[in-house]
Amino acid sequence: MERLGRGDDMSDPVIHRVGIGTDLHRLAPGGPLTLGGLKLPIDQHLVGHSDGDVLLHAVTDAVLGAAGLPDIGEHFPDTDAANAAADSRRFLARALAAAAAKGLAPVSVDVVIHAERPKLSPHKAAVRANVAALLGIAEERVAIKAKTNEGLDAIGRGEAMGCTCVVGMTLRTGA
Ligand code: MG
Repeated sequence: MERLGRGDDMSDPVIHRVGIGTDLHRLAPGGPLTLGGLKLPIDQHLVGHSDGDVLLHAVTDAVLGAAGLPDIGEHFPDTDAANAAADSRRFLARALAAAAAKGLAPVSVDVVIHAERPKLSPHKAAVRANVAALLGIAEERVAIKAKTNEGLDAIGRGEAMGCTCVVGMTLRTGA
């Protein structure tokens, strides 16, 4: 059985802080769909001031939250032209750098994508691998789940996609 969270060696760091992140973006016709830092071959896209990457926005907010830092909207306001059509991988990289400045490094992330459609199951493995690479952690520490909303609300009608995630972070010794 896998050991997780024992904190008894460097490959299995203890989690000192957790952060939660949520986000929601409207879906519109025309691909590709940017999710988890990948451009997926899906004939819809997420509408946003940036690239609309609902998953990376939630993970970025969770990293910032674990570090006790202001949220993604304060760091990267949508009133700032520099963030127009921005690659959300840049937001996550800057959040990780801000957390690292406080001695915090990511250990694990558990992601729930809320989407009635498009079907994400063919893409979950690739998204998992890319999120792990962006966070600099092993794939076994990343979970990507996708849930429908049973036909209810804007997500259930296929008008939007949401994301909820929790990130665990460790405090590096000597920080
Ligand atoms: Mg967003």
